[in-house]
Amino acid sequence: MGKDVSASDLLAANDALLLCTGATRPRDLPIPGRDSDGIHFAMEFLGKWQRRQRGDEISPISAEGLDVVVIGGGDTGCDCIGTSLRQGAKSIVSFEILPQPPEARAGDNPWPQFPRLFKVDYGHEEVAVKWKEGDPRRYNTMSKEFLRDENGRISGIRTVTVAWTKDPATGQWKMAENSDSEKTYPCQLALLAMGFLGPEEYVKNIFFSLIIALIVFSLFSYAIQQLGLERDGRSNIKVKPSPVNGGSIPHTYATSTEGVFAAGDCRRGQSLVVWAISEGRQAAREVDEYLMGHTLLPVPGGVIHPKAQSVRKAASVAGFRPAVEKEDGVPVSPKKAAFEAPPANDYRARASRRQ
Ligand SMILES: Cc1cc2nc3c(=O)[nH]c(=O)nc-3n(C[C@H](O)[C@H](O)[C@H](O)COP(=O)(O)OP(=O)(O)OC[C@H]3O[C@@H](n4cnc5c(N)ncnc54)[C@H](O)[C@@H]3O)c2cc1C
Repeated sequence: MGKDVSASDLLAANDALLLCTGATRPRDLPIPGRDSDGIHFAMEFLGKWQRRQRGDEISPISAEGLDVVVIGGGDTGCDCIGTSLRQGAKSIVSFEILPQPPEARAGDNPWPQFPRLFKVDYGHEEVAVKWKEGDPRRYNTMSKEFLRDENGRISGIRTVTVAWTKDPATGQWKMAENSDSEKTYPCQLALLAMGFLGPEEYVKNIFFSLIIALIVFSLFSYAIQQLGLERDGRSNIKVKPSPVNGGSIPHTYATSTEGVFAAGDCRRGQSLVVWAISEGRQAAREVDEYLMGHTLLPVPGGVIHPKAQSVRKAASVAGFRPAVEKEDGVPVSPKKAAFEAPPANDYRARASRRQ
C-alpha cells in the first residue's frame, strides 16, 4: 500500500481499512562516513538472513570473517550479535550510548515502571563463551565517524566515551564527551540497531497525499477535520480514546480518518508478537462492529467488555438464547450470559438444535 496501490483507492473500494503495517522505520546515524559501503540497518541484515534461512534465493549480508560493530544495545542489537556469530564473524562489539543499567532497580525507577535492569541475553552470552574478551557491549560509547578504505568500504569506527549527569534543578540527564577518550575500533560491517521511529514513511505519506486531495474536496464539504490521519508523540498512528467504561479500556483502534483503523506496532510502536496478535483480534472486532452495528467476535481473554450487551442483542436477533440464563436458580447477568455464549459461527447450529 502506498507503492502499487494508493490508500485513497483502497478506501474508495472498501468500507473499512485496517492498517497493520508495523513500525520498522529505523533511526539513522548521520555522522561522517555514513555513506560508506558495509553499513546496514539491522532489519535489512536480519530480514535478508531470515528469508535466506527459509529458502529464498537471495544473497544475505554476511558477517563471515569480518569485524562487526553493532550500534545500539537493545533486543534488535542482540539479534544482530547472535546472527553475526552464527555467520562466522571475526569479532563482534556492540556500542550503547547509555550507561550500563544497574543490577537492581534504581531509586528513580520504582515499581510499577518498566524495570531498567542489566540483563544478559543469548547473543551476549554466546559471544562471552566464544571469545575471551567476554560481553561484547561497550557502554557510554558514542560513534563519531565511520572510517573507510580506498574502495569506499567501512574500515573502522572512531568513538569517544561519554559521561551522563543529572541536572538537580530540572531532573534532566545531560551527556558530555570525556576528553582523551577517543578510540578506533576495526570494522568492516556496521549494523545500526538504534530503535525504530514508527511506521514506514510511505504509509503515512500516502495518507498525506490523501489528505491534500481531501483538503480540496473539503472546500465544499467542511469535513477536513474528520479526514486527517493523526500521529501520536512517538510518530505512530494515533487512535481515538475509548469512551467505554470511563476509560477502563484505554483506546479504540479507530484513527481520526473515518473507516480507517490501526493495530499492532504501527499503533503502539515496536512491541511484542503477543500484543500484535491481541490488537489484531480486538481491532477486527471493532471493525466488525463498525460495519455491522454489533459484533459476535470475542472480547479479550476472560474480561467482560461492556459491549457484550451488543453480543447478547445480536444473538437474540439471530434467534439464539444464551446457554446459561440462571445459575442455581439465580439469574445470570446479561454480560456473563453473553460471555458464555458459543462462538459466532456456532450460533445458528446451536439455535436450530434447541428448537
Ligand atoms: C529484530 C526484532 C526482533 C524481535 N523479536 C521479538 C521476539 O523475540 N518476540 C516478540 O514477541 N517480538 C519480537 N519483536 C517484535 C515483533 O516482531 C513485533 O512486535 C510484531 O511483529 C508486530 O507485528 P505487526 O503485525 O504489528 O507488524 P509487523 O510484524 O512488522 O508486520 C507489518 C507488515 O506490514 C508490511 N507493510 C509495511 N508497510 C506496508 C505497506 N505500506 N503496504 C503493505 N504492507 C506493508 C510489512 O512488510 C510487514 O510484513 C522483534 C522485533 C524486531 C525488529
